Amino acid sequence: MVRNIDGDHDYDERMPTPPWARAAAGANTYDHTAEAVLPTVYERTTAAAMSAGSINLGQGFPDGEGPLWMRAAAAEAITTDAGPTNQYPPGIGLPVFREAVAAHQQTHYGVELDPDRQVLFTTGATEGIAASILSFAEPGSEVVAFEPWYDSYGAMVALAGAELRTVPLEAPDFRPDIVGLRAAVSERTSMILLNSPHNPTGAVFTADEMAEIVTIARQAGAVVMSDEVYEHLTFDVSAHTPVLSIPGSEDVAVAVSSVGKSFSLTGWKVGWVTGSPALVNCVRGVKQFLSFTSAPAYQWATAQGLQDDRGFFAQNQEQLQSAREMVMSGLAAAGLRPHRPAAGYFILADISPVTDKSAADFAAELVEHAGVGAIPVSALTLPSTQQDPGSALNYMLRFAFCKNEPVLERALTRLSSWIR
Ligand code: PMP
Ligand code: GLN
Repeated sequence: MVRNIDGDHDYDERMPTPPWARAAAGANTYDHTAEAVLPTVYERTTAAAMSAGSINLGQGFPDGEGPLWMRAAAAEAITTDAGPTNQYPPGIGLPVFREAVAAHQQTHYGVELDPDRQVLFTTGATEGIAASILSFAEPGSEVVAFEPWYDSYGAMVALAGAELRTVPLEAPDFRPDIVGLRAAVSERTSMILLNSPHNPTGAVFTADEMAEIVTIARQAGAVVMSDEVYEHLTFDVSAHTPVLSIPGSEDVAVAVSSVGKSFSLTGWKVGWVTGSPALVNCVRGVKQFLSFTSAPAYQWATAQGLQDDRGFFAQNQEQLQSAREMVMSGLAAAGLRPHRPAAGYFILADISPVTDKSAADFAAELVEHAGVGAIPVSALTLPSTQQDPGSALNYMLRFAFCKNEPVLERALTRLSSWIR
């Protein structure tokens, strides 16, 4: 099944025209009545949880801090002569940072990158995503993504003046529908947006699936942007396949990643775009006029983590995996139907066994009355999907399990006692 942002062409009429409003509407953050911008669904959920005194299993950030030795390195760089100065670093990133990204790709995936031409520092993955989409999504073209998507994709595609088409990921396994993707892609497609490991489903695309997607992009002359921020949060036997390890991806794909999820340092906003020298040069064309540059101390400290994670990735995976099991059982005990993710921070749970309400309405009740904040997946889908009563995505909540176990236990007890 394939969806289109304008469905039967009714949505386009509702699409506001100023660029700021288009960006907001593209991510479901435009208030059509007030003609004003709403905060993101993550920020709205965090604010609602804080004001109700609820436990926030909405926005995806860990409640622990990242490795102390990385934080100490950043502090040292800021306050002493060690590391870079606090003045502008190069627009493409500190050399030591770009070398560390290249070394990390080589060590973990066998992907060879020239740190001077194939690695671009960005202010978080968010800027890498924005710069990639604004670089390659031609106005009037179509951009294809799997649905649900990360909110910034919708905003940037709309800002670029392109149209988002989606291919749904369906429970229970949320595998990418390659046949559906092939049907959605046409000569009008300028980009295909991938996210593996996937937020919010936790699906990890296999090497074969990635290869099929790259082939489809090549045939259509489309650029692939692969968002890989959850690369180090895979569980069980799942293994991340970076797009750049796929033969044939070299001249059609850029990858985006960041320090936030890999090192539990979501506030640092150190990201990177990698790809061929030609594609990375294109992304630089936009990126250098978004932030130009930022965060020399954090780039320096991130370089140290990428060179040697000192066992953090394995330890973090183990903790998250145990939290995942706890939340899986707790959600099932509360009567919901959770889907076990192969990666990431989130569990999607079908709420239909306990209510006829939409996930958006149920999330509002939970945060207010049950004392638990969660994200309705419909906030991460097109308006046409939200209006489709047959879409299972309208009845799914996303619960973040990147929290301490006592906090999770309290949240699950609250859920169970309120729902039953
Ligand atoms: N992409 C996805 C899929 C995410 O979940 C997030 C949030 N970590 C981002 C991009 C943004 O990453 P960053 O915080 O590095 O900008
Ligand atoms: N990536 C985080 C999530 O999916 C949120 C990031 C944000 O608040 N923009 O929950």
